[in-house]
Amino acid sequence: MTTLATTALVDLPSAGPHQRGTTLASPGDGDITLSGASEETWRTALDRADPPPMQWGCRPGRAIVIAPHPDDEILATGGAMLQLVRRGFSVVVLAVTDGEAAQPHASAGSRRSLSAVRACERKAALGALGLADVTVARACIPDGGVVAHERLLTEMLVQLFEPRHRRPSRVPPGPGWCIAPWRQDGHPDHEAAGRAAAAAAAHCGSRLLEYPVWAWQWLRPDDPRFPWPNLRVEHLSRSTRSAKQRAIAAFASQIEPWESAREPILSPAMLQRFSRPFEGFLVQEGAQERLR
Ligand SMILES: [Zn+2]
Repeated sequence: MTTLATTALVDLPSAGPHQRGTTLASPGDGDITLSGASEETWRTALDRADPPPMQWGCRPGRAIVIAPHPDDEILATGGAMLQLVRRGFSVVVLAVTDGEAAQPHASAGSRRSLSAVRACERKAALGALGLADVTVARACIPDGGVVAHERLLTEMLVQLFEPRHRRPSRVPPGPGWCIAPWRQDGHPDHEAAGRAAAAAAAHCGSRLLEYPVWAWQWLRPDDPRFPWPNLRVEHLSRSTRSAKQRAIAAFASQIEPWESAREPILSPAMLQRFSRPFEGFLVQEGAQERLR
């Protein structure tokens, strides 16, 4: 993948032969095919709740962002990644899958093509954020198959977190922050990646932050499953917001219909969730208090 030559890319231990991916339907509580509440309803609820701002600590550290598919890290945490780097943090993106199964009925050739396209889109998106030098570590787990590789993913994350373990030389040591998909996000890959991250973070002493992606779309603000007390927000500067929108625009395969598909994966309604002037994160109880 010479197109990624300028991005610091690290291959992690192989996940074995790729398996066929699954569709986006979730077998759990959440169903990402549902439309929960309009963005206007969410924004009203968020304004009323006025969640506390994120507290990242006094000293810059390291943040590992776990992205089940190329684009998740930009949609949910692109602004925070940029602002953390500006504050002196070292950010590493763990690319769990290559996103080849976004179109479940695509041919094998089309999947390979989509995988390469999405890698290029991620590179362009990170470049649009001014984060072209951020390390991207590939786990090479099959898209749609993260549940079956959850334990392997946990072990990979422990390798990244633990200074005493052998790790790619470009990844600085120290536990730092672990920023992962919410374990109840509704997408099986997201939930499995979130569980693996939570296990690895607990093992290594990293501070865990969880980010919703699909939950903003299928969940309603009055749903008791949404943990309002745990919500923190990272307010985004005007320049960060502009850079994030340019970065999202790089994912043409997701925001426009791919090949013969009628609809894009990310609808305009879904994209509205990621044009907010803040990003939402769910903290573990006590994690923020320990920083004060
Ligand atoms: Zn995803």
